[in-house]
Amino acid sequence: MKDLIQTRVLQLDREAIDEAVAILRNGGLVAFPTETVYGLGADATNDSAVARIFSAKGRPSFNPLICHYPDTEALLPDVYFDARAQVLAKAFWPGALTLVLPRRPESRVSLLCSAGLSSLAVRVPAPQPARDLLARLARPVAAPSANRSGKVSPTRAEHVVEELEGRVELILDGGPCPVGVESTVISLLGEQPVLLRPGGISGEQLAELLGEEVLQPDASTAITSPGMLSSHYAPNSRLRLNATHVSPEEALLAFGPKPLIGAKREINLSPEGDLQEAAARLFAALRELDAAGITTIAVMPIPDQGLGRAINDRLQRAAAPR
Ligand code: AMP
Ligand code: MG
Repeated sequence: MKDLIQTRVLQLDREAIDEAVAILRNGGLVAFPTETVYGLGADATNDSAVARIFSAKGRPSFNPLICHYPDTEALLPDVYFDARAQVLAKAFWPGALTLVLPRRPESRVSLLCSAGLSSLAVRVPAPQPARDLLARLARPVAAPSANRSGKVSPTRAEHVVEELEGRVELILDGGPCPVGVESTVISLLGEQPVLLRPGGISGEQLAELLGEEVLQPDASTAITSPGMLSSHYAPNSRLRLNATHVSPEEALLAFGPKPLIGAKREINLSPEGDLQEAAARLFAALRELDAAGITTIAVMPIPDQGLGRAINDRLQRAAAPR
């Protein structure tokens, strides 16, 4: 964790929204109320701003983040929005339903929001102030719940102050959240929809509208469980962790000012040894080296502290035998 920063708390009005937009544009963090819980928001197109979400929350792993939009139209450049998505969006948006959809390859959303998957979770929140903020920013906002990792989700600005003071630039106080529990999450990636997280909108309601069965997550579909993500994010190349040497037929994922010499291709996650910068680049770097068609990627050791733990967690999953 970097040094603590000055956190301001503002009543949610027009001027506060202007302030929030300016902070988000600059890569800062803004906590804001939605109808479900307070979200910890960052410009979803800015890799290092998204990496800051993970360090502010102290998350030990990179789980995917929900991207928030002012309306359906705004998310069309980022995901493939099929007929089923249209039906659900018409019925429930703006509202407490999150759709997991295939990501468009040309999307500018940080790969960190997808935690390396080829999908993206999207939602249009209900409160007008939240949508005003999103519309003025005119960029998607990645926002998990605004609490420290392992703590309960905040439904009042005071909770966010307790959890994140010194870690975010601004907390917008819009009073208590009317719903108070997280959004329902449904995946529309496969042939059959899968309910990934129960919430205020029930699986039965969704099934009725879609006119087809909505599967409950089980051992094989529970993408929220850490194991599932590991099998989803699977580079073709083999990963060799904690490398202390590299051979000419290998690619190198380097870290720090003294990269190993002699690899066929090299990407340095952070020549300065900055873990936030490394986190911001991780998924794009893995993809790029993987696409180069090299059998093995040697990975230099990453310090196992702060965001380094989340980076190592992800690297270990990617290196696990399949
Ligand atoms: P939170 O961090 O509290 O906003 O929770 C986000 C929820 O959405 C978690 O349960 C995630 O696992 C789920 N989620 C977000 N993006 C995806 C995705 N691309 N695929 C599957 N689940 C996702
Ligand atoms: Mg949460």
